[in-house]
Amino acid sequence: MTIPRGILELDPAKCTACMLCVRECPTWCISLDSHQAVDPETAALARPRTINLLDDFRIDFARCMNCSICVEVCPFDALSWQAEFDYPGTSRAEVEHHWH
Ligand code: SF4
Ligand code: SF4
Repeated sequence: MTIPRGILELDPAKCTACMLCVRECPTWCISLDSHQAVDPETAALARPRTINLLDDFRIDFARCMNCSICVEVCPFDALSWQAEFDYPGTSRAEVEHHWH
């Protein structure tokens, strides 16, 4: 099946802020902010784990070249292509997408 490469979509619930896509993107158009918190599932244990929680995830579509490397390297299938080809604006600021 051919997957159309329109615009990228992030599922914030799946993203662990691992930074793999940020490091692998050849045009450096992905950036994110996150913070660390105690994993609630391990909070009662003697050595609770910390997890990264996503605050803001950004893709600058003015620089994205639709190579799909970010989709392929994401270990959690958080990024996917959508069959939509309309960008939301005409200025650089408007074509940078944010997910929280
Ligand atoms: S498709 Fe390629 S250029 Fe676009 S955000 Fe993903 S890795 Fe970067
Ligand atoms: S590779 Fe996937 S899980 Fe990691 S920061 Fe990117 S979108 Fe999130």
